[in-house]
Amino acid sequence: MKKTRYIFVTGGVVSSLGKGVSIASIGALLEARGFKVTIQKLDPYLNVDPGTMSPFQHGEVYVTEDGAETDLDLGYYERFTSAKLTRGNSVTTGQIYFTVIDRERRGDYLGRTVQVIPHITNEIKNRILKLSEKDPQLDFVLVEIGGTVGDIESVPFLEAIRQFRLDIGIENTMFIHLTLVPTITVAGEVKTKPTQHSVKELLKQGIQPDILLCRSSNFLNDELKKKISLFCNVPAHRVISAPDISHSIYEIPLIYHKENLDNEIIKYFKMEDISPLFVEMKNPMLEKWERIGTIFKNPKKTVKIAVIGKYMTLGDAYRSLFEALSHGGFPFGAKVDLIKINSEEVNKQNIKDKLKEASGILIPGGFGERGVEGKLEAIKYARENKIPFFGICLGLHCAVIEFARNVLKMKDADSTEMNPDTEYPVISLMEEQMNITEKGGTMRLGAYPCVIKSGSLFEKIYGKINIFERHRHRYEFTNKYRDEFTKKGMILSGLSPNQNLVETIELEKSMHPFFVAVQYHPEFKSKPLEPHPLFVKFIESTLKLSKK
Ligand code: GLN
Repeated sequence: MKKTRYIFVTGGVVSSLGKGVSIASIGALLEARGFKVTIQKLDPYLNVDPGTMSPFQHGEVYVTEDGAETDLDLGYYERFTSAKLTRGNSVTTGQIYFTVIDRERRGDYLGRTVQVIPHITNEIKNRILKLSEKDPQLDFVLVEIGGTVGDIESVPFLEAIRQFRLDIGIENTMFIHLTLVPTITVAGEVKTKPTQHSVKELLKQGIQPDILLCRSSNFLNDELKKKISLFCNVPAHRVISAPDISHSIYEIPLIYHKENLDNEIIKYFKMEDISPLFVEMKNPMLEKWERIGTIFKNPKKTVKIAVIGKYMTLGDAYRSLFEALSHGGFPFGAKVDLIKINSEEVNKQNIKDKLKEASGILIPGGFGERGVEGKLEAIKYARENKIPFFGICLGLHCAVIEFARNVLKMKDADSTEMNPDTEYPVISLMEEQMNITEKGGTMRLGAYPCVIKSGSLFEKIYGKINIFERHRHRYEFTNKYRDEFTKKGMILSGLSPNQNLVETIELEKSMHPFFVAVQYHPEFKSKPLEPHPLFVKFIESTLKLSKK
């Protein structure tokens, strides 16, 4: 059996330092050095999962292959590495307490007092260990501790990882602390004090960081590194700069590499025999990351895509989607610029003006009726003006409603999610959802197979007919309307294997060059090194249009 090493990443000073992207980048680097990794997130909140939180609160809910609703950081982990994440990669305080209290009720702890230490901390440690028990081939388990050191909520997690080191040894565990080294602009001075305080806070929990990852505007010079080293008790060569990026987050693995982070980790764990240290190394995987970086720096072309949704002020609400759209441009060396439009601000009068610069129109997933009318206007505009269109989940629902109202002349056709009393419920609750009353984790979630019609646009896009995609929804195309739609030119080109659920739709070629919508969320499976074919073909069709 392989020996698995554990790297814990904590965050200090302030939130939003990009811990998720940092740990994902470390994962990418370790993979580039030939190691097998997985990444886990420990989230300190009491919700069992983020599935019941508003995107305004929490950003996107990311869905894993096995149907867990998770923090959006898991999206970064999957995009930056080849790790296959499952339910076990996303742990919350809510889940931990749920398990422990359930055991207590069953009588598993009869006669004893149930306490944070050891019962809660033991359960946290179990969840960490489970990943390597499930996959003994793992070289590394990287664990992100959510929140900022000093938060009340993260204390049990910090205590658990302190004990974890005691259990499995200092030589098998590493603590990385991501911290802020701000510049006071008026004085032009770089300040190390917040980092010193943050490390002290960590020390109070019994944790001495082994590596400091310092977010700052620029690379730290040797003098600053020495100062941080002295006060924080971390050797200067393990004080790593994490400067602001100039173009895209995909530069981060390379920046860490330049800062020698991968070598430092390998030296720490004495793994030079598996992945020799290097001074200058040509690494095929790092070269791929470098190529992506170049697209952002010197794009061969740029294309503008309008995304019309409800949570546009918050980039994180559609994080995977925005990333997937940019991946779609990579094969063409193209940079994808987004025109983000709040659907509530779109109407018949202003639609043309709002969309005049867009070479493609995308309607993402969403919930509830707010803003739907604006989305319908945008779809009508895309359909009638033959602008490439891509609908995702609620975007498919809206495309179906728009077609019903404007092509099939079904007045006020709707989804029963928006209008339960509509005369034409072209989208309705799935049968399996009818008797569900609980909200948490009860949607149709995770990857399901879909069979694509041969000869369809979707077959061209995927290059195959059997696909697997991830879902998160309760409503579906209403089957009794299938004939009416297909007679007028909407092709129901992807169905569930039992033919019961419509998974993809497209318009006949004679009606539109590229009009597609999917019931699933392809954005969850797109990676910078493997862009999803739907996004690639969508961008390709928009590039053709923008050339015209
Ligand atoms: N609200 C719709 C449903 O539940 C669509 C969900 C989504 O877009 N993810 O079916």
